[in-house]
Amino acid sequence: VQLAAQCKPKPQRQVCKTVLKHFDAQYSEELGEQWWSARDVLLNPLSWQYGVLLNRFSDLANLKQCLTALGYTNLLPQTCPESQSHTTHMPLHCFIHRDPVRIPTQGHHSGWLKQYYLLNAASLLPVLTLNVKEGENVLDLCAAPGGKSLAILQAATPGLLHSNELDKHRYDWLLKTLESYFPPTLQRLLSVTHLDGRSIGSMRPGAYDKMLKVPGTLDGGDTATLSFAQPVSQRMVLVDAPCSNDRSWLYTPDTHQGEMWLKERTQLPLLQKELLCSALAAVRPGGVVVYSTCTMSRAENQSVVEAVLASYQGVELLDLDQQLIDSLSDQFYFAHLRPSVGQLVIPQKAELLEEVLLLSAFELN
Ligand code: SAM
Repeated sequence: VQLAAQCKPKPQRQVCKTVLKHFDAQYSEELGEQWWSARDVLLNPLSWQYGVLLNRFSDLANLKQCLTALGYTNLLPQTCPESQSHTTHMPLHCFIHRDPVRIPTQGHHSGWLKQYYLLNAASLLPVLTLNVKEGENVLDLCAAPGGKSLAILQAATPGLLHSNELDKHRYDWLLKTLESYFPPTLQRLLSVTHLDGRSIGSMRPGAYDKMLKVPGTLDGGDTATLSFAQPVSQRMVLVDAPCSNDRSWLYTPDTHQGEMWLKERTQLPLLQKELLCSALAAVRPGGVVVYSTCTMSRAENQSVVEAVLASYQGVELLDLDQQLIDSLSDQFYFAHLRPSVGQLVIPQKAELLEEVLLLSAFELN
């Protein structure tokens, strides 16, 4: 394996002043001093941290050694037999780098499995929190382009992974991701749909006789009816909600687009609540739902979680795994939310702490 590191910075991207002004007003009020250091990081894409998630189903040859030689280190703590942490025995490997040393993305070649997936390292946190065990049924409600579905498949081999995406174009992208990283022999474990995630929770078990993508025909584009002999009870549901992605919104080249987004932003909390309620309806009693976003906006984080907790019967908010948080606190800055509805990962200067993410986990009684 040869990796040509790309140390050269990418061309400077233009910041949208309208969006920045809006963020300054909102986040200085919501986050206080923390906003100003987060802002510096967001305005300096060269300081953003990229992770290299290895694909355990591919031929990795000497990839780990190559990454180590380039200065990459493993994000997750190494195996420690005394530790109870659920991450220690996971076959998931993600490498990170302190400097802007980027490696190239790999192209799609039919019949060949890619060796790694580039992602923002903190986007693994929802998957680590989900803590999928071998054989469990998992629903990834808002799945495209597939980074978290892929990470779930690296962490464990589920009984069934149902990855759903509403948008047709992004659904096609999701199919391609799964095809590029997951061997055809195991694709019977996948079901990929393009449904409105808000409707999935209300489907009766029989209603799973819907237009589902037949696993194993990921490159086809045709759909067929799948019936499950047993009702599929979802033990785990991930809601990686559509949100106002602070990082990409800040770099919209078009002021008009920036203004449109800011208007649409007010509509997002309703959609997020409906998706979260749908996830809670889809999970079986005792199952776990993880809600995550990549925005710092209170309206899309705490307020969504609080509103759903106030209106949804029989659901309990879980404490996040403190051992996991502690083991990653050198890599990410976790701001504990008050009231306590999860953790907000805030971009921080001079360290590796650049991701924006909210994490909350629920258990259905
Ligand atoms: N989990 C993905 C990953 O790790 O690659 C990223 C998901 S992105 C934050 C949110 C996704 O939700 C978008 O692809 C968006 O098209 C999709 N989405 C928006 N509304 C939806 C809905 N009602 N049902 C399902 N998916 C939806």
